[in-house]
Amino acid sequence: MGKKKIKIIINHAKIYGFIFKSNEIYNGLKSFYDYGPQGLEMKNNIKKFWWEYMVKYRSNIVGIETSILINKKILLASGHLKYFNEYFIINIINNKIYLIEDFLKKIKKKINNIKKIEKKFYYYYNKKKINKLNFFLKKIIIKNNLNKYFKWENIKKFNLMFKTKLNTLKYNKYIYLRPETAQGIYLNIKNIKNSNRMKIPFGIAQIGKSFRNEIISKQFIFRTKEFEQMEMQFFILPGEEKKWYKYWIKSRLKWHLFFNLGKKKYRIKKHKNLSHYSKFATDIEFKFINNYKELEGIHFRKNYDLKNHIKFSKKNLYFFNNKKKKKFIPYVIETSLGLDRMFYSIFCSSLKINKKRIYLKLPFFISPIKIAILPIVKKKKIIKLSKKIFNNLKYEFNIIYDENKSIGKRYKIQDSLGTPFCITIDNNSIINKTVTIRFRDTMKQIKYDINKLKIFFKKKFDISFFFKKNLY
Ligand code: ATP
Repeated sequence: MGKKKIKIIINHAKIYGFIFKSNEIYNGLKSFYDYGPQGLEMKNNIKKFWWEYMVKYRSNIVGIETSILINKKILLASGHLKYFNEYFIINIINNKIYLIEDFLKKIKKKINNIKKIEKKFYYYYNKKKINKLNFFLKKIIIKNNLNKYFKWENIKKFNLMFKTKLNTLKYNKYIYLRPETAQGIYLNIKNIKNSNRMKIPFGIAQIGKSFRNEIISKQFIFRTKEFEQMEMQFFILPGEEKKWYKYWIKSRLKWHLFFNLGKKKYRIKKHKNLSHYSKFATDIEFKFINNYKELEGIHFRKNYDLKNHIKFSKKNLYFFNNKKKKKFIPYVIETSLGLDRMFYSIFCSSLKINKKRIYLKLPFFISPIKIAILPIVKKKKIIKLSKKIFNNLKYEFNIIYDENKSIGKRYKIQDSLGTPFCITIDNNSIINKTVTIRFRDTMKQIKYDINKLKIFFKKKFDISFFFKKNLY
């Protein structure tokens, strides 16, 4: 069922202009995707909703946009050159590649005493005792008589970063595509503090592309090599990490629940395999089709990055504690969400297929097209009124006008695009100054005063009410 559903999703996304395979006419580039007109619009709506919640309505969080290509020294300091690796085995028997964690999942069902094994596995894995892990896994395979299925030489390592060359007159120098947006924020902490007079606790948010040379990238846009992140680094006083860590887990979960995709689809889980910079981490998991998987990570990064940037750059990135009269390096709580993964979570749970019809039940504020203006027939007077309504609404909402094909077919197209409302205009509209509004989810139709349309839709698409009550 899972694979079949993914196929349906990929197909729908292509036909209705959300997502296309990248480089398609040259047979595609595996795990790269392009966003079509509807996909781009939807992506922008998600970004806006994140930005309004995280930045616009908070006085202590500001935004930034930093460069994608970064200096090698930054990644030496951040530890990514040394630690940002993927470990995998190549099974000689079937010539398949398994990431080491996936391999554990694969053999899980076939072995006994899994809890004990998992504990030891993560002990070796987190401490990067890879030789010991290799030996340990081989022992398990033999003990459980699995050697007819699995055989490999050694666990192999792959660094996840893409690098390219910078041409200078004298020599070619390597620079890297950033693997996360966070580093650009750390480098600018003093610029932001000084230019915007920020006081601890404060946050810096960024939305932008990141790149990871993932060995196994599957499940459509869930894991790709080029993706967008929406990250926020929150700088706090050392000692206040528990309070702020809890705050951000709660706050981020609240944001996700605004999408109304079903409370049960979310799960909070402690992250087992900690990144090199994380002291503790929690994932907000989402039930993508059949399984719960990481959607967003909330990490306590302590002062790992700033401390190393001070050490490597020899620049003063210290703050001053007026009460204690001494300098300190702020601790950091990071919230990190993949935009494409967020897109996927919404898209796959919104696509509704039943015997009667197919429709995309997107949250109204995320829908790429908000309203479709559909004259019932191509009569001069009806078209004239329809265009007048279109022109009246187009400055406030992303809307379209469509006069081709039967009304049933046009409804079908709009349902598949996720358009929450269709307005139909007929002869009565000219006489009574009313139109018919059709609701995507219920297919209910109501008559409505043409002069009151703007107010009606403003209420329907207002997102500020989400934030007005409480920004927890
Ligand atoms: P995963 O365990 O899925 O690889 P991660 O723990 O490495 O993720 P982080 O480094 O915490 O991920 O990145 C923060 C967020 O960025 C993730 O929660 C996810 O939403 C997104 N993300 C990370 N890697 C990718 C990827 N290859 N493709 C799409 N989104 C990604």
